[in-house]
Amino acid sequence: MSLTVLLNAGPWLSVPPPGYGGIENVVATLVPELRRLGVRVVLASVGTSELPVDELVSVFPDGQFAALQRPYNQVCGIAQAHLAGVVRQLHTRDDIDLVHDHVEAVGLATLTAMGPDAPPVLHTLHWDLAKHPALYGTLDGGDRVRVNGVSAAQLARAPQALRDHSVGHVHLATPLAVGADRRPRREKGDHVVVLGRINPGKGQDLGARLARQAGFPLVLAGPVGPYHRPEALAAAGDDARQNPDVRFFLDEVAPYVDGELVRWVGTVAGQDRDDLVAGARATLFPLRWEEPGGTAVVESLALGTPVVATARGCLPELVEHGRTGLLTADEEELGDLVAAVGRLDPDECRREAAARFTPAVMAERYLALYDRVRQPAAAARLQPA
Ligand code: UDP
Repeated sequence: MSLTVLLNAGPWLSVPPPGYGGIENVVATLVPELRRLGVRVVLASVGTSELPVDELVSVFPDGQFAALQRPYNQVCGIAQAHLAGVVRQLHTRDDIDLVHDHVEAVGLATLTAMGPDAPPVLHTLHWDLAKHPALYGTLDGGDRVRVNGVSAAQLARAPQALRDHSVGHVHLATPLAVGADRRPRREKGDHVVVLGRINPGKGQDLGARLARQAGFPLVLAGPVGPYHRPEALAAAGDDARQNPDVRFFLDEVAPYVDGELVRWVGTVAGQDRDDLVAGARATLFPLRWEEPGGTAVVESLALGTPVVATARGCLPELVEHGRTGLLTADEEELGDLVAAVGRLDPDECRREAAARFTPAVMAERYLALYDRVRQPAAAARLQPA
């Protein structure tokens, strides 16, 4: 009998996401590989999701992400309504062997509250675990609810109660890693790329300042708050400043953006993104936070572009200093590392990605965790009260 997993992707975006969408992209990468391994997948998402699955269940016809711009008291029912739909499924059917949940905070709280008769749960933590201390610090899911991180460094920051529920970590993956070692070498340009949301934690201000100081061409790719195009931000006027990432960009990054040496190109997608990264000398991660998972890091390796980064969060787990990238604890040293990165072999990056960061590797790891989560939960349910 094949394993049936209810994979809860949440109410925010369809799967795959139409544009930016971290968790929904992970789900879209994982599900086809799980199904290839024989898992039956019931996807809890929104009605517009097009990812091929065995069954789609939804409460909302389409993604609710835009609602998150509204005040909390107007939007706090959305995730709850979605979770109530998931709970109804779990109460009314008996074919779900395990729930693999990806919904921040409310997914964990609701599925834990269901009590011992509900199916076992693996809740994947995609974010910074210093968040939600009241929830994570008091978690009690018994043997039935387990969590996993996306890096060891991320879990190390978690409160003890959350760590007590952990079955380990699974690094992120990218379809770009499939066959990456067999792809022909790309001609490298002179430019360096910072790929990610423009945000203080991602450190684009630092990257831009170092580029201006050291004189290397830098392309900043990624959205500023809800603005994906420079023209859209320019047209938005003063209201846009209500968004903290917009304020960060305008006050801390834009002064270094001269349109020549340092450029902000907005969000790049698809082949344009891949060409931009594959043709870069390095991808720079001037991080000021403990990056939990780093999809853009594994994408860069898969595209044969060494990583230059502050040695924070998951970076030392994903990047081998001196082989697939250059890492430093001293942010001021990043400019020197950009100058030195040419001595690394892009083929090493692609080989590493093909070996460690394919969707198949990720799915096999999750399948092993599903087994671990199911065994103690099943045994506990068979115990007489
Ligand atoms: N990304 C993109 N275009 C951009 C900037 C970012 O497609 O202009 C993608 C990037 O390739 C990666 C994701 O957005 O797949 C960012 O994920 P990551 O885990 O690096 O950062 P997060 O935003 O989740 O903290």
